[in-house]
Amino acid sequence: MQKYDYLIVGAGLYGSVFAQRAKSAGKKVLVIDKRPNIAGNVYTEEIEGIEVHKYGAHIFHTNNKTVWEYVNRFAEFNRFTNSPVANYRGELYSLPFNMYTFNKMWGVVTPQEAMQKIEEQKKQAGITEPANLEEQAISLVGTDIYEKLIKGYTEKQWGRPCRELPAFIIKRLPVRFTFDNNYFNALYQGIPMGGYTKMVERMLEGVEVQLNVNYLDDREKWQLMAEKIIYTGPIDAYFDFCLGYLEYRSVRFETEILDIPNFQGNAAVNYTDNETPWTRIIEHKWFDFHDQPRTVISREYSSEWKPGDEPYYPVNDEKNGALYEAYRKLSEKEEHMIFGGRLGEYKYYDMDAVIASALSLAEREL
Ligand SMILES: Cc1cc2nc3c(=O)[nH]c(=O)nc-3n(C[C@H](O)[C@H](O)[C@H](O)COP(=O)(O)OP(=O)(O)OC[C@H]3O[C@@H](n4cnc5c(N)ncnc54)[C@H](O)[C@@H]3O)c2cc1C
Repeated sequence: MQKYDYLIVGAGLYGSVFAQRAKSAGKKVLVIDKRPNIAGNVYTEEIEGIEVHKYGAHIFHTNNKTVWEYVNRFAEFNRFTNSPVANYRGELYSLPFNMYTFNKMWGVVTPQEAMQKIEEQKKQAGITEPANLEEQAISLVGTDIYEKLIKGYTEKQWGRPCRELPAFIIKRLPVRFTFDNNYFNALYQGIPMGGYTKMVERMLEGVEVQLNVNYLDDREKWQLMAEKIIYTGPIDAYFDFCLGYLEYRSVRFETEILDIPNFQGNAAVNYTDNETPWTRIIEHKWFDFHDQPRTVISREYSSEWKPGDEPYYPVNDEKNGALYEAYRKLSEKEEHMIFGGRLGEYKYYDMDAVIASALSLAEREL
């Protein structure tokens, strides 16, 4: 007799949301995770009274009312609005590109003047068919914004010159001719007060969870324990990389506690020049409006991924797309297994999208 209806591999958002739904539908559920903590990549940990986003800054934003109402059952959200600042060799600019940015860049005051300036620069560049990312960006926002706010940041992120990157990476660039520094257009936005870990803890209330357990180390044992398995780990790892490694872009974080109350006055400052080695600095306390005497910052460095590193961003090119498709076909033959989440589906998912995906699986399954 199997002991559980569902074994869920991974206590990230996908696994935890499915576990919550299954538990409340009366199913017997076990969640395992190889990390020593729940919450996967949205894990936050308290340092100096500040909720530190250990795997990168996470800002919840969504237009999906069902998802918003769902997460609000497990956390109260604050009014945080993402308004990053760009630092280009000491000059500060508002993001996303908006009237504050254009005023600082060119001294223009009206939207008409800003539009004219961008049009002039686009015309001067004379690009009709962008052949690479540099040409694409210039044809969208002109030379000045490209040189100061896009070039260095993008080259650090991808580890390659913009002229060697394909144009399709930037289809659109958010340009606003209003005085609006809100990065997201989403209807709902905020950070769960008390941190994401607490929110996931509430989702998992009453669910059996075992940490520091790697499913792949003992898969025969786990397969006997449950009728169905929801696997949210990397799909290539599940198949022992038999067709090759799916590639990722990785990020390295250097976190520091500073004996001052305020380091940069904003949650996120992007360094858009080429000389500064990090892409941005996150000052975690500004996600939650606290007045702790000290502060915690994380410098983010974009890095090449190699097998064994923490996988962050899937590389959505043809080669990796085809490889994923081949693994997906293999996964269809696995009985009683469901592959889901960002690693199981090799897909960049925002938090609201991964929650929506887990909720819809729950609806189909339960
Ligand atoms: C740097 C960064 C910043 C982001 N910022 C935002 C943001 O601001 N807003 C937003 O909406 N989204 C953001 N996201 C996306 C967000 O992180 C994802 O939507 C979310 O974490 C996906 O949840 P998941 O459950 O699919 O995956 P994960 O959180 O990765 O969970 C998978 C879990 O499975 C476990 N696992 C894997 N293999 C095994 C195994 N063999 N055995 C046992 N356990 C295993 C892992 O340890 C992990 O805990 C960001 C992503 C990144 C990379």
